[in-house]
Amino acid sequence: MTAATNEYPTKAYGASDTSGHIAPMDITRRGLRDDDVLIDISHCGICHSDLHTARNDWGRTTYPVVPGHEIVGTVAALGDGVTRHTVGDRVAIGCMVDSCKECSHCEQGLEQDCKQGMVGTYGGTDRHDGSKTHGGYSNRIVCRDEFVLKVPDALSSEHAAPLLCAGITTFWPLNTWKVGKGSKVAVAGLGGLGHMGVKFAVAMGAEVTVLSRSEDKRCDAMELGAHDFLITTDKAAMKAQSGTFDMVLNTIPVRHNVTPYLHLLKIDGVQVLVGMIDMMPEVHTGLFLGRKILTGSGIGGLEETQQMLDLCAEKNIVPEIEIIPMQDVNTAYDRMEASDVKYRFVIDMESLQ
Ligand code: NAP
Ligand code: ZN
Repeated sequence: MTAATNEYPTKAYGASDTSGHIAPMDITRRGLRDDDVLIDISHCGICHSDLHTARNDWGRTTYPVVPGHEIVGTVAALGDGVTRHTVGDRVAIGCMVDSCKECSHCEQGLEQDCKQGMVGTYGGTDRHDGSKTHGGYSNRIVCRDEFVLKVPDALSSEHAAPLLCAGITTFWPLNTWKVGKGSKVAVAGLGGLGHMGVKFAVAMGAEVTVLSRSEDKRCDAMELGAHDFLITTDKAAMKAQSGTFDMVLNTIPVRHNVTPYLHLLKIDGVQVLVGMIDMMPEVHTGLFLGRKILTGSGIGGLEETQQMLDLCAEKNIVPEIEIIPMQDVNTAYDRMEASDVKYRFVIDMESLQ
C-alpha cells in the first residue's frame, strides 16, 4: 500500500491496442472503501471473452485493458465495514464486481442483468468514482464484498477459477431450463464453456451429445461423460438427429448460422446462445412454427454462482485445465483460437512475482 494515497500498486498484464498483444503494465488498485476486500490473486482462468476484448472483436474495448474474470485468491485486507469475509479466506470473483443491488432484477438475484448495468470485472466503470475496472491478469484486486464468493475447501484454487465464468455460464441455463433425467441436451463447441456444459448436463442426469467441428475431440467428449458425438459438417448425421433434443447449449464464439441447431430441437425445445455476441445470420421464421425457442443467457447471479461452486465441490465437478505462467498468455490466446486447449488455460499468478 502507498502511504500517501492508500492505493495499491499492482503488477498486471494487459493489451494496449487492437493487436490484442498482452504485455506487462503497472496499474493501481483503489484504497479500500468500507465494503471493499483486497485479494491477493493466485489463479486466473483465460476465457475466450478475454481474447475477444483484447482484440476489440466486439468494437467496445477501451485501452489499456487488463482481462481476466475467473479469479481466485486470498483475502489480504478488509474495509472497515466488511463482516462476510476474513483475512486469509480463499475467495473468488467472476465476471462482475458491482451492480445497483436495488433494482427488481438484482433483488431476484439476477445482478448480471442489473437495470443500471452490472460493472464488468474488466473494462467496466466503477459506480462511485468513474474509474475503469481491470481484471485478474494481475497480482491483486479490490472488490465490493458482496461480489466476492467463497471457494469451498474441496476445490483447488486452479480448478475453481474456470468455474467463475465457464462454469456459471453453462450451469445457469441448464438449471434455468430444468435439465435433468430424461432431458436430451446437445452442447455445441467443445471448449472452455462447452466442456463444463457437458460435465454439468451429465451430472444433472441428461443424455448429452457433443456437436463439434473436429473428429479429434470424439474420445475426449466420451471421457467427459457425453453419450454421443456429432460432427456438425456431417449433414446426414445432423439430419438423422433432427427434432430430438430438448436443448442445444450453443457455445460457438463466432458469428454463425444457428439454423442447423434449431432443426435439432423437439417441439418446445430451446437453443440457448451463450457464445456468439454478434449480429445473427438470417433465420427463416417458418422454423419457429414448430415451437422452437431461440434465446440467450449471460453468466449467472451471485447466489447461483455460489451454489454452483458448492455443488462442484460436493460432486467433484471440476474443469480440465492447463496451468501456464503469465508470460505465456499470448501463446495461450493463439492456441485457444485454434481450439488447441484441453480445456481451459489457468494462469498461475506466482509467475507474476
Ligand atoms: P473456447 O474455449 O475457445 O471454445 C469455443 C469452442 O467453440 C471451440 O473449442 C470450438 O469447439 C468451437 N469453435 C471455435 N471456433 C469456431 C468456429 N469458427 N466455428 C464453429 N465452432 C467454433 O471459448 P469459450 O471460453 O468456451 O467461450 C465461448 C464463447 O462464449 C466466447 O465467444 C465467449 O466470449 C462467450 N462467453 C459468453 C459468456 C456469457 O455470459 N454468455 C460467458 C463466457 C464466455 P469445436 O472444436 O468442438 O468445434
Ligand atoms: Zn468469460
